[in-house]
Amino acid sequence: MMLEEKYETMPRPELELLQLERLQSTLNRAYLNVAHYRRAFDAGGILPENIQSLADLIKLPFTTREDLEKSYPYDMFAVPLREVVRIHTSSGRARNAIVTGYTGGDLKAWARLMARFLVGTGITKDDVIQISFRYGLMTGGFGFHSAAELVGASVIPADIGNTAEQATIMQHYLTSAIACTPGFALILLDKLRELGINTKSLRLRRAILGAEKLTPSVRENITQGLGVEVFNSYGSSVVMGPGIAGECTAHDGMHIFEDFFIPEIINPETGIVLGPGEKGELVITTLMREAFPLIRYRTGDITMIKSGACSCGRTHMRLEDFYGRTDDTIKIKGTSVSPERIRALLAAEGISTGMKIHIYRDGFHEKADVILQVQENLFFDEMKTQKAFMEKLEKILHAGTNVTMGVKIVPHSAFKEGPIVVDERD
Ligand SMILES: [Zn+2]
Repeated sequence: MMLEEKYETMPRPELELLQLERLQSTLNRAYLNVAHYRRAFDAGGILPENIQSLADLIKLPFTTREDLEKSYPYDMFAVPLREVVRIHTSSGRARNAIVTGYTGGDLKAWARLMARFLVGTGITKDDVIQISFRYGLMTGGFGFHSAAELVGASVIPADIGNTAEQATIMQHYLTSAIACTPGFALILLDKLRELGINTKSLRLRRAILGAEKLTPSVRENITQGLGVEVFNSYGSSVVMGPGIAGECTAHDGMHIFEDFFIPEIINPETGIVLGPGEKGELVITTLMREAFPLIRYRTGDITMIKSGACSCGRTHMRLEDFYGRTDDTIKIKGTSVSPERIRALLAAEGISTGMKIHIYRDGFHEKADVILQVQENLFFDEMKTQKAFMEKLEKILHAGTNVTMGVKIVPHSAFKEGPIVVDERD
């Protein structure tokens, strides 16, 4: 099933012409309205009219997370604030969050692209879709929500957490599709088993996943455990949230909506553009974003473009499931956190000791601990003082990252050398 067959199966020459027209218009708007782009283009001696073909794209400078953080809060907006109807954020690496804006047109387009994906997975108005992504400043919940309503499905905005309640809802409300992170799908599966609910007795048919790396073994666990067809998706809370690319029923990669985005894969060290089948960093140029156009934005996500046509008939390129990140940003329970951010939060409390982040699974549950190497002056004789200190730090880390993390302290002698992030989830 396709929502917009005209665009989804557009012959490549026609699609590339459409991309060029939209690219030129995006470049003009960005150059005129966003000081950062004007400066970056001028520094490279480039004018929007110098871009005469898609191959000219490589003449344009990259946009980085650092560029966006420097523009905090609104300097990357290409429209006046009065035209912005929604504001979301993406966690910054150190100090500032990245603030993104959406016009009414952007929100409609976002819902439409996500709806294309949902329709492609077979979701119809007969479905009851439970959306277990976080609703808040991050984009996850909202991206799925508007699209599911557009398709006409019955939407349960379940949010994340309250797993026992969610398992009961799934059973009683006849949920036929769940939209969540792979990690949350595993937690739900665990809870269903704990509550003695046989997954075969549920109406659940599809798991629409996103926001985290989906490994083949986790995919298999969810498919078998929940008895569902799994569809992966790709999003970026900086670019637009979920709805950049989604898997079709051929289950052979995620189609990136090329009438809205130009994807490039680059070597993260040299910046050189790589071909299909070569693993590298995904770079995205938006073609229709009104409030927040991005030109050659380095997502930091590692993937590759799959070559060849898809059996579903769509002509848009496919991305392989993601392999990881170019930087040390980690995803914990679907939320991005950088060690730099954690360090900055601790430094604000006067703590600058050695630190490690330990991520692991307790059953299916993802857990993260920040392990601090304690100096002499941080040693506590009284256990009570120590406990209060760690609880205070846990609260600060949660408030500053949106992720619940434990804080543990170890004496100087017990602190092991090696990488800062110890990820034992796989
Ligand atoms: Zn396909």
